[in-house]
Formats: sequence, C-alpha cells, structure tokens
Amino acid sequence: MIVVLKNDVAAESTEGRSVIEYLTARPGITPKVHAITGTGRTLTEIYVVGDTSALDQPEIEALPGVEKVVRVSRPYAVIGRHIGDTRGHGFTYNGIQFDQASLHLFAGLCAVDTRDHVEQMMRALREHGQHCTRMGAYKPRTNPYSFQGHGASCLPWVFELAGKYEIRVIAMEVTHDSHVDEIMQALEHSGHATGVMLQIGTRNTQNFELLKAVGRQRELPILIKRGFGITLDESLNAAEYLASEGNHNIVFCLRGMKTNLGDPHRNFVDFSHVPVIRRLTHLPVCIDPSHSVGGRSRDPADILDVMHATAQGVIAGANMVLVDFHPHPEQALVDGPQALHIDELPWFLEDMQIARDAFEKRRKLSQRIGATTSAAR
Ligand code: PEP
Ligand code: MN
Repeated sequence: MIVVLKNDVAAESTEGRSVIEYLTARPGITPKVHAITGTGRTLTEIYVVGDTSALDQPEIEALPGVEKVVRVSRPYAVIGRHIGDTRGHGFTYNGIQFDQASLHLFAGLCAVDTRDHVEQMMRALREHGQHCTRMGAYKPRTNPYSFQGHGASCLPWVFELAGKYEIRVIAMEVTHDSHVDEIMQALEHSGHATGVMLQIGTRNTQNFELLKAVGRQRELPILIKRGFGITLDESLNAAEYLASEGNHNIVFCLRGMKTNLGDPHRNFVDFSHVPVIRRLTHLPVCIDPSHSVGGRSRDPADILDVMHATAQGVIAGANMVLVDFHPHPEQALVDGPQALHIDELPWFLEDMQIARDAFEKRRKLSQRIGATTSAAR
C-alpha cells in the first residue's frame, strides 16, 4: 500500500506525522517515507511495508493530509504499475525528462579511450542536436588481462569535454560503490559541467550490496540492465532494490539474453519485452541494440542488424536507446566490432525516427480503434 499525501504536506508536518503515527500503531506495519521534490513542490509518499490486508483503506483516505491510497498489486511496490494508480511518473534530470512517453538516444563509446576520440564523438552528437551519450570508464571484462577502463583518471577530462559540447547526461557503468563517490567528486570538481546516469551492468544485476549502495544516493539517476541469465521477475526485483533504498529515478534496460539460441547474434534480442516492462512497471524502458546484436552485419537491404533491432524496440515504445559508436571502431579498446561508425550517426537517427513515428501512429490507431473492439470492452 502507498499513502500519497496532498501537495506540499510533508512527513514532518502535523498532518504527516499523524498519518505516520496512525500507521505505526497498526501491528506488523512499518511506514517508509519518500519525498519527491519537483519544480516548486514536494510530493510525499508513504510506502506501507508489512501485511496491509487488515488496514482500512477508506479510513486512511479520510485522514487529514491524505490525497489517496494506492493498493500495491504487484511485488514491485515502488516500480510497479498498480491498479488504479494515476500518479504521474518519470523524472527530470539535468533538464531532460525521462518517462514512458519520451525517447532519448545515448550514443557513445563503449569504453573511454583517448581524449581525441571522446571529443570527436561529443562534437558529432552536438552537431546532430543530441544531449546524451554513453562513456564507460569502469569496464567489467570477462578476461582479467583485458583493458579494464581508465577509471577515475579520465573523469575530469570526460566531464570537461561534456560541458564543452553541452552534453547533459552521460550513462556510465559502475561496478563498485567507490565508483559512485569518484564520479560525484569529479562532477563537483568540474563545476557540474554535465550529469551522469549510473549504469548497473547485466553482470551486476543481482549484486545486491551494489544495488543498495547505488539506490541510497538520490542525486544521480540509475540505468539498470536486465540480468542476461535470470528471469525477468528477478531483474525487476533488482530494480525494486534500488527503489526501496530511496532512489526512484530508474530506467530499465533490455540488452539481450545469453543463450546459444541468440546465434548468430551475441545475445538473443529481447525487445519484444518492451511493452511488457511498460505494462508491469512505470519505468522508462531502454534498449541496448549493441550488446544484444554484437556485430555490424547487414541484411540484403543493406540495413545493419543493430538498426533493425533498434527499430524493433522503438516501434514497440522504447524510451531510451543506448548504442555503441566510435570514430574509429577498429581502434576501440572494448567492443569495437559492434560499434557503429561516427559518420553513421545521421543515418541511425533518421532510421530511429521512422520507427518512432510508426510507434506514434500505432498508438493513435489503438486509441481510435483498439479501445472500441469487443475484446477491450
Ligand atoms: C555496457 O553497456 O558497456 C555493458 C557492459 O553492457 P552489459 O552490462 O549489458 O553487458
Ligand atoms: Mn560493451
């Protein structure tokens, strides 16, 4: 159960305190307060943990300061989309809105290598009106002798260049909680030249201590990848770990599943699950076609498989695309064979827009016809 307080009624106010006292007095019930500060107003939600079946919903709704009560109809209390839940969802970070209605491209280097490559990438993004990118500084590698990423040492110049090219958000994987501190310090030193969306990689989806540490900080949003060898339910529970620690600014990313059925792609592309995540949760949904497809093959129509996979996710309603690009893929230190060339960026953008327009048309069609069909009634 979620008790939503009225606009600007804080947990510390007289009304807020009495709601919390009311809940605390019920046996086996623990209220957890979450305050969301938006532009000019604060929204307070109280997550009621424990067996809520004996609670009297109309009585709680009648308490002063209470706007409404949402019954939790899924195991993911915070990230779940619940029956009758009409709260607005999504978040704004560094001037960019992330929700289930928007679409943002995060094209960039799988791993930061040279300053020159990072600069060429960011310049190209700005030339094409893009304000987000991906830049890996901490790389989880299968082989311990492979390049592990430049780590904290590259952050100052990556953030400086991001500021120069008006990049607002960089998706950056962290594999240890100390990386979060390093990123925050470097952002501070750069005078907040840019913003960072912390990325939890597929190998760490069930690293619960990392999830808790990343979820505890409320400053930076989080992109969590679906675990490549676990159930969807397990991955959604992992996202709930982040949220349960207090950070609700989460994007859920599909990146393909590890199975030989994925051959000839690196992973089995799972973008048909985009509508499933949109239905089960209120999180914006990201797709990563690069780590799904893992190559640069083209079909007889000369369209890259990475672009086909992107179109499949976007036409199904994806809200973010994380994709590897490189000015010189043959020189990339990580995942060069799957990187698109920087001069393919305008083609990629136009191709993605075709899929987005088609999604919008499909949405309008379903509003016009789908809702009137006998199955919907
Ligand atoms: C990445 O995005 O750089 C990455 C390592 O992805 P994944 O965790 O999906 O393998
Ligand atoms: Mn990679």
